[in-house]
Amino acid sequence: MTVLRSACPLDCPDACTLDVTVDGGRVTKVRGSTLNPLTAGRICGKVMHMDRHLYGSDRVLTPLIRTGPKGSGSFREASWDEALGAIAEAMRTARDTHGGTSILPCSYGGSNGYLTEGTYNRRLFSRLGASRLRRDVCAMTAGAALGGLYGKMPGVALTDYSAARLIVVWGTNPHATGIHVIPHIQVAQKAGAKLIVVDPRTTQLAKRADLHLAPHPATDGVLALAVARLLFEGGHADRTFLEEHCHGAAEFERRARARALEDAAAITGIDADAIRSFADLYAAGDPAVIRCGWGLERNRNGASSVAAVLALPAVANKFGVRAGGYTASNSGAWSFDPESVAGAVAQETRTAFLTQLGAALTELTDPPVHVLYVYNGNPLMTCPDQERVRRGLLREDLFVAVHDAVMTDTARHADVVLPATTFLEHDELARGYGAYVLNRATAVVEPAGQSRSNAEVFDGLLDRLGLARDGDIRDPGAMAAAIVAAHPGGDRLATELDTVGIARPDSGEGPIQMADVHPRTESGRIELVPEPLDSDLPRGLYGYVPAPDSRHPLVMITPADRRAITSTFFQLVGGIAQIRLHPDDAAARGITNGAAVRIHNDLGEVLCDARVTDGIRPGVVWMPKGLWAKHTRSGATSNALIPAALSDCGESTAYNEARVEVTLA
Ligand code: SF4
Repeated sequence: MTVLRSACPLDCPDACTLDVTVDGGRVTKVRGSTLNPLTAGRICGKVMHMDRHLYGSDRVLTPLIRTGPKGSGSFREASWDEALGAIAEAMRTARDTHGGTSILPCSYGGSNGYLTEGTYNRRLFSRLGASRLRRDVCAMTAGAALGGLYGKMPGVALTDYSAARLIVVWGTNPHATGIHVIPHIQVAQKAGAKLIVVDPRTTQLAKRADLHLAPHPATDGVLALAVARLLFEGGHADRTFLEEHCHGAAEFERRARARALEDAAAITGIDADAIRSFADLYAAGDPAVIRCGWGLERNRNGASSVAAVLALPAVANKFGVRAGGYTASNSGAWSFDPESVAGAVAQETRTAFLTQLGAALTELTDPPVHVLYVYNGNPLMTCPDQERVRRGLLREDLFVAVHDAVMTDTARHADVVLPATTFLEHDELARGYGAYVLNRATAVVEPAGQSRSNAEVFDGLLDRLGLARDGDIRDPGAMAAAIVAAHPGGDRLATELDTVGIARPDSGEGPIQMADVHPRTESGRIELVPEPLDSDLPRGLYGYVPAPDSRHPLVMITPADRRAITSTFFQLVGGIAQIRLHPDDAAARGITNGAAVRIHNDLGEVLCDARVTDGIRPGVVWMPKGLWAKHTRSGATSNALIPAALSDCGESTAYNEARVEVTLA
């Protein structure tokens, strides 16, 4: 029995370093390492039980080739040679007949590691001249807002939350995603810190908060601007700081003051006194930190909402002290360029959008998509407009290859399924986007069955298609080393990886905003009304777009579930899913707890069970994201009801504001 070091590259901010116990060639225990201060010996239940994923009955162990009708899930076993040959032939034919853009790679957050995403895949697809996929289902809108105001200024470290005296958790539920900030919030609370939670749901953290505000979805920006207005009116704005470190302060103040508090209360559904309490707590709290999540970006006002929230620490100047400021994505602390290292070529090509995958598969012409290659993702269950995605996958003239560790709903629609390794079975290099850590890991066990890594498969296709070049880095260890070496200060990173086991960015593991790190905008200042964001948005930055009229009165949100990372691990969860709705909404529809219900709108319907709870605000219903077909009676999930409409800045999808009705089934 041995304990080996590994790391979690899944789509989670915390980037845990792991201690993995291996016995008889099998993983028997996964625990958090104490090497990484954020992990601190603790990990989530999902990865703690990774053995169920590794050795579960859904694991794909051999290449498979379709035998039944498309989508039937009928396959026969095949050799790697036959399966890779079929994919290479489909790609070659598509490229030679219709052009490289008729090939569409499709991936998302199944791994945030550079050896599974951004290197070997980009080398292959760029040399094929394939269409490029804009992976815009998450974080693009928040990234646009953050980039506009601050550039890529690193945020407050999650480990520093214990030093805060006012913590705002806005649009995120750490008990489901990113658990490691919780102990630091608890330490702060024990020392007297106040906690504000902003979420339409009464999350576990909201129950422990001093103030819980539950705004109507898509109104977070109105709430944040109302708080800003109160800060200005109450004399809590730091005029000197605004003058010296910000651009656009006067215009921001004008926009914040444009709406009366009573109007803001009516729009958000939050009592004006509660908004005043927020402003009072925020003004008095020092150090004060805002954890800005991604829940508030997924609607028609996403960019304005995130920008308004991130403007608050500038207005009151909460910077310059440990635990003062904000945390959003910390990925800007790193400057890796894995594509260049891998030898991906710059190319003029077509861009397709993951949020509009259904349209890409059914409507693109000149040329249509003829080959879809899916890896690190389960798009049938995670993309909006689900029925259109399904129709696309069922096209007889579309060749679909899926490389995955388990038989996903998307894989069931494939012509060829390839068995993929998990992150414990291949080498990886991954940086955190919450944690300030770079992890390098080597495989701790042999691959299950005949599974192969992305690196092996993409390079296998590169060879079959005659696209390999002299000087290409093939070995994953060499690829990881080259990526690190190409980073500014790469020698230090390499030394830390070799000697400590993990590495830190230049900003260190706990940067103080506006002291150790500064805005990385062109001006070097905080841009409170940044161009071009302001001119791109339909009503300008901070302009509120009201909800369109709809005959479907309820707003559906689809937050993360603690049992899965979007769709990853949901094969391990059984039972029919529940949609949660408020007792008032349930009573108005004659719905009781546990009743079978039909959720519907003009796009489709989902059949599941109701859970009546006052843990969600009236008018809003809540269904977990990433569910699999087996979790509903109709085989359709929330994405069957979510249109492929984009947020205000043309990025990300409005996952948190689908209009629906719920009736007894
Ligand atoms: S999913 Fe997040 S919390 Fe769980 S092990 Fe991975 S990084 Fe850590």
